Amino acid sequence: MPSMTNGELLIGIVGSGVAGLRAANAILKCEVDARIVIFGDETHRTYNRPGLTKKRYPLSDALEMAIAEDLKVNGAENNALTWQLGTRVETADLRNKVLHLSTGETFEYDRLVIAAGVRPRTSVQDNRECEFHTHRTLRDLNDARYIHDQLQTSEKVTIVGAGFVACELASLAKEYGCEVLMLEALRRGPFESILGEHISSALGRWIVQNGVTFLTGDSARELLCDRAIASARDASGAKASNLESPSDRSLFIEAIGSVPNVEWLHGNGLDLSDGVRVDEYMRVSECEDVFAAGDIARYPDPWIAGNLTRMEFWKNAIDTGDLAGRSLAASLGYDAKISQIGYFPSIATEVFGLRIQIAGNPKIADSMEIVCGDLDQLDQGALVAFLREGVTVGAAYMDKGARFNSLYINLLKSLKVTRVDSANVV
Ligand SMILES: Cc1cc2nc3c(=O)[nH]c(=O)nc-3n(C[C@H](O)[C@H](O)[C@H](O)COP(=O)(O)OP(=O)(O)OC[C@H]3O[C@@H](n4cnc5c(N)ncnc54)[C@H](O)[C@@H]3O)c2cc1C
Repeated sequence: MPSMTNGELLIGIVGSGVAGLRAANAILKCEVDARIVIFGDETHRTYNRPGLTKKRYPLSDALEMAIAEDLKVNGAENNALTWQLGTRVETADLRNKVLHLSTGETFEYDRLVIAAGVRPRTSVQDNRECEFHTHRTLRDLNDARYIHDQLQTSEKVTIVGAGFVACELASLAKEYGCEVLMLEALRRGPFESILGEHISSALGRWIVQNGVTFLTGDSARELLCDRAIASARDASGAKASNLESPSDRSLFIEAIGSVPNVEWLHGNGLDLSDGVRVDEYMRVSECEDVFAAGDIARYPDPWIAGNLTRMEFWKNAIDTGDLAGRSLAASLGYDAKISQIGYFPSIATEVFGLRIQIAGNPKIADSMEIVCGDLDQLDQGALVAFLREGVTVGAAYMDKGARFNSLYINLLKSLKVTRVDSANVV
């Protein structure tokens, strides 16, 4: 057992999301004799963030509470933890091990876990009002409350982006009965950076078949920013195209990626170039008593030698949170059985009733093979294998039912974590 020099051992966790919670649970499981305080700038204990876009919520005065109740995460109601919610950590002095809080107080820690997550990127930075509309984003319960509220009463919505959140939002907006315009300026369709052009285009067609106006490339760009909208009008002020500009739409939501919440860590000499850099045990190399986990942690890519990766998925937050907690316990001398992160990505989403499951790392594939089904008839199911030098390194399964489920499971069994050199990945 480690000895405590100044009485009680204090562990601070910044971020009340699932990564912070899992880190706390892992520390408790290792029976570390310490007081754990979780700081969260949201006012709720951990909830299931992915659930914010998965279904409709009924019109209610207390919509936020209804969502929070529905999305409770097991383990968040834990008497062994102290929650300091509605409290932002403004700055951290890692040399002196002190956090400066939005309440004006300070917190001196012995060990620290950074699990502050990310926030949505927006094209208008801090000023969300532009000449034409308010740029909304969706990350937390407050955002969800506003957006669900608006979707119940709006006729039209514009969604910028074609990633997971954008596609789920489009699907949700349609369910609420809205007319949906999706704008994706950089890619040809959904999830292109993960699944490649072929599948991405098929998913784009699926979205269109389901009644969304989906514009990509220049057509999207033309409607995206204020100046572009203005230039799309002719000299007389009439619109150059017959599409309404997003300014005529009541709700404009951007889902164009995210930014790690690292500003409070500035001035401590950490590598914060894209999140918080950690080693394969979630340890911050520059500070032996600091750990990081979840969306904010950038760690050595188990798949690509020499690369660092930062993942924004629930399971990754759980696994890295757990590892950060156990590494912290190990640093105090507890028997915590740590092993390096061997992350095996596995993601699922549903877009207009089509369940999309992705496993492994399609990005490193050099070829793809349609195992069964047809990308032009996604509702009939399509199963795709991603290969690298003949070895299956990824799989994607799209279906309205579970037609090829057993084949998909077999494909997953044949998946191999393949370590490749970064120089050989396009
Ligand atoms: C709408 C939506 C849908 C999603 N759907 C899926 C899905 O279907 N499948 C999937 O795998 N993943 C999904 N994700 C991603 C998944 O939710 C995240 O990967 C996961 O929640 C990350 O957990 P985290 O604990 O690292 O970060 P977060 O959940 O972001 O938690 C970090 C917390 O720290 C707080 N914080 C930040 N800075 C400070 C500070 N200085 N002081 C105090 N508190 C601070 C933040 O406000 C936040 O509450 C979705 C995300 C969103 C937004």
